[in-house]
Amino acid sequence: MNKQPSQAFIALGSNLENPISQIQQAFEELKQLPGTCLMKQSSLYQSAPVGRLDQPDFINAVALIKTCLAPHDLLNALLAIEQNHGRVRESLNAPRTLDLDILLYDDLQCHDEKLTLPHPRMLQRAFVLKPLMEIAPDCHIPGHGHIAPLLATCNGQQLKQIKAI
Ligand code: ADP
Ligand code: MG
Repeated sequence: MNKQPSQAFIALGSNLENPISQIQQAFEELKQLPGTCLMKQSSLYQSAPVGRLDQPDFINAVALIKTCLAPHDLLNALLAIEQNHGRVRESLNAPRTLDLDILLYDDLQCHDEKLTLPHPRMLQRAFVLKPLMEIAPDCHIPGHGHIAPLLATCNGQQLKQIKAI
């Protein structure tokens, strides 16, 4: 565990088995991670599925945590939470009870077989950028700049804020 806490943004997504309560429960579980505080949580947003359209809409949100977990330990802890929510890995873009992705971890840029930071698919997705912008309007994405112009490129994507914080 690191001595100094780092700041990490986590994307939460669900479209199976009562997605709203899956996300609310996941916020509680983030608070329980060792050496970790939940600093901010976004509103919940509803979005249409991407890639594979024959599945229910998604509920999405973003959390800001402070954590002493190192990046790969944080990833493993998040994958364990997904498992507890009955996550079955079927295929890319498949429906899921809970998806937890690390969007950003401080200003770290890394790419190995388990972890890529910043998260590679966050840049074109309104369902990630909108809730991220809500809790971090000045957010800077290493290698890609300020969040606002990135979000502006997603303006065709339908997203409904369903539950304010
Ligand atoms: P996706 O979230 O893209 O739909 P999965 O949730 O099935 O896909 O994740 C597949 C793998 O992606 C994970 O096992 C993990 O090792 C890897 N991965 C790479 N970078 C990240 C990241 N920043 N956050 C979460 N998972 C990541
Ligand atoms: Mg994932």
